[in-house]
Amino acid sequence: MQERLQQLQKDVLTSLQKAKDLKSLQNVRVEILGKKGSLTEVMKGMRDLSAEERPVIGNLVNNLKKEFENSFLSRQLQLQQQDIAAKLASEKIDVTLPGRRTASGSLHPVTLVTDEVVEIFSRLGFAVAEGPEIEQDFYNFEALNIPKDHPARDMQDTFYISDDRVLRTHTSPVQIRTMLKHKPPIRVIAPGTVYRRDSDLTHSPMFHQVEGFLVDSHVTFGDLKGILTHFLNEFFGDGYSVRFRPSFFPFTEPSAEVDIECVICGGKGCRVCGKTGWLEILGCGMIDPAVFESVNYDADKFSGFAFGMGLERMAMLKYGVNDLRLFFENDLRFLKQF
Ligand SMILES: [Zn+2]
Repeated sequence: MQERLQQLQKDVLTSLQKAKDLKSLQNVRVEILGKKGSLTEVMKGMRDLSAEERPVIGNLVNNLKKEFENSFLSRQLQLQQQDIAAKLASEKIDVTLPGRRTASGSLHPVTLVTDEVVEIFSRLGFAVAEGPEIEQDFYNFEALNIPKDHPARDMQDTFYISDDRVLRTHTSPVQIRTMLKHKPPIRVIAPGTVYRRDSDLTHSPMFHQVEGFLVDSHVTFGDLKGILTHFLNEFFGDGYSVRFRPSFFPFTEPSAEVDIECVICGGKGCRVCGKTGWLEILGCGMIDPAVFESVNYDADKFSGFAFGMGLERMAMLKYGVNDLRLFFENDLRFLKQF
């Protein structure tokens, strides 16, 4: 009997060490201490022992049982720690791997150009103003010295909403709204969306303009030339010649068109400038006294100038874009280049 117990002790310790995980460890426990376990069998056989043997063997069995329990618990702890270590290893995060980038959007080229124009004029003390895109006839035409039946209304193909309401054809109504609210001196830049019934390769029914104007005492055409030349040098870079050509607008007198030496060919003549070496870039002039009259400014006390330009055209020239429609198609391959 004693030999059998010694053999059992060896077997027990080996099978505990052999158990590779918690489940097989539990199985070992059942094999030893379960109803049909080997140690249970030994205990059952004790009743056949003599009265002298019984306490000796009983003592051995108890010691074996204790030893098994202790070994079992320490093996269990060992396997639990192994489990945790394995889990930690599998969930480890490699912080040295490169991060995943989220795709970021970019600003539309017309927005970029608008921001730049506004920034240049802001540095010259101009404030930004905005107005409604659905405009009353008074602000869009009447107050700008374009009365009904005036031939100048034919210059702009207008979207009429009603007899008195239009989609604004230019940003100039912001001039009127601002001057009715504020007294001189004022310096304002007004970027915005405008609409005309015009759609072909070089025209879109919706496009963007920026309007600027300055009113103070003693403002001269020289101030106008100085500020616009400075602006064009800032926007396109120094070194391009600028010229002012006489022109006509109902709301300015005298009026001028401003050309810049072709920024594509440097004045040599190319397809973009129509071989002339010059690019028409903006319209401007001294604000007509009739406009001052409609906003109750005293034309004897104040003078001022106004100018306007198309922002799509500025963006085309700045970024070398040759098709106006690219700005409105929202093709990501185009937009991502800015
Ligand atoms: Zn050119």
